Amino acid sequence: MSYRPGRQFFHAPGPTNLPERVLRAMDHVTMDFRGDAFNAVVAEAAEGLKAVYGTRHTVAVMTSSGQGAWEAAMVNTLAPGDTVLMTETGLFSDLWRQLAQKLGLNVDYLPGDWRHGADLDRVAERLHADREHRIKAVCVVHNETATGVTSRIERLRPILDDARHPALLMIDTISSAGSMPYRHDDWGIDVGVGGSQKGLMLPPGLGFNVIGPRALEIARRDDRLQRHYWDWRRMVRDDGSTHFPYTAAVHLFLGLREALRLLQEEGLDAVFARHSRLAAATRCAVEAWGLAVACLDPAEYSASVTTVLMPDGHDSEAFRARALSDFDLVLGSSLGRFSGRAFRIAHMGDLNALMLIGALGGVEMALARCGVPHRPGGVDAAMAFLAKGG
Ligand SMILES: *Cc1c(COP(=O)(O)O)cnc(C)c1O
Repeated sequence: MSYRPGRQFFHAPGPTNLPERVLRAMDHVTMDFRGDAFNAVVAEAAEGLKAVYGTRHTVAVMTSSGQGAWEAAMVNTLAPGDTVLMTETGLFSDLWRQLAQKLGLNVDYLPGDWRHGADLDRVAERLHADREHRIKAVCVVHNETATGVTSRIERLRPILDDARHPALLMIDTISSAGSMPYRHDDWGIDVGVGGSQKGLMLPPGLGFNVIGPRALEIARRDDRLQRHYWDWRRMVRDDGSTHFPYTAAVHLFLGLREALRLLQEEGLDAVFARHSRLAAATRCAVEAWGLAVACLDPAEYSASVTTVLMPDGHDSEAFRARALSDFDLVLGSSLGRFSGRAFRIAHMGDLNALMLIGALGGVEMALARCGVPHRPGGVDAAMAFLAKGG
């Protein structure tokens, strides 16, 4: 591969762009992970994580990808043969369901069309009908990264309360936290699942569990699923602070502390507003092109990724390959049911308006080069939207 001048425009939804300050923070000599200097890094990061996840409770940090944190959430709180209610939102809910089944859980999977968020009416129905309380957890993906559709997580706790149902509420926040509001305590979530490489602007390698008090109490029981690496009892001390039962990923923690500082300096509300603005600008472009976004309900638009459907007869993977080869633009691939029929524009993490305009310019030029039917002017529409200020 020969040198490609300039910056690559990276718009896949994870891993995301690494800010210079995060890169520099990780450029560090080795630290003793049982030493005072590292403890100070962990203590500061713990506070920052609590702000991002909207919690006063413990955020356990594991050396893993996001899927490891899925597994940790389940093995600590559920027992073999337990029933869990899961909602189909897209590829990520499918993968989570497969994991649950492999663990020996009985999954009641509510179907979805990949163009809407979780079907909350059906969730309510199932919970009301479950008088024996066989359902032990309700698991929902907050932001479905395959489709660019969010689910209305804040509505779940009232639904459980209304049904007087004791199931735990488990939420995948992997591509939402740090890009859009996720309020673990206010929304009454029991377990939040996170990962480092999306809105948190870090390399892959850290998995997070936000652990509410009821989930922690249940996890202390011995009759849960088999667990060792993921066992919260080895990670969470009685006072709620975290312990590392294995070598901590010190460099990722240095990056994490810095990334959390960046979020704090910008202000979380400003971070969320920036993401929703860039998402809205992206949709302006898509609409002007005459293409369709996957998400059908404006109340469920994702602030972190937009999935764009290709016109029939045009292969989205060939289009993505062209965007990369001709313009050094990395777009997200089509996944699962959308295979070959969609591409994804990620706008999460370390990103500003001009970076987005550059990426949209690349999309528009690649559409033209691939002969994909569209109207020109998408970039203009996005610029007009962003020029309005605010
Ligand atoms: C990326 C992602 C995952 C998987 O995370 P990995 O780090 O790849 O294991 C799970 N859920 C959602 C919503 C994601 O976006």
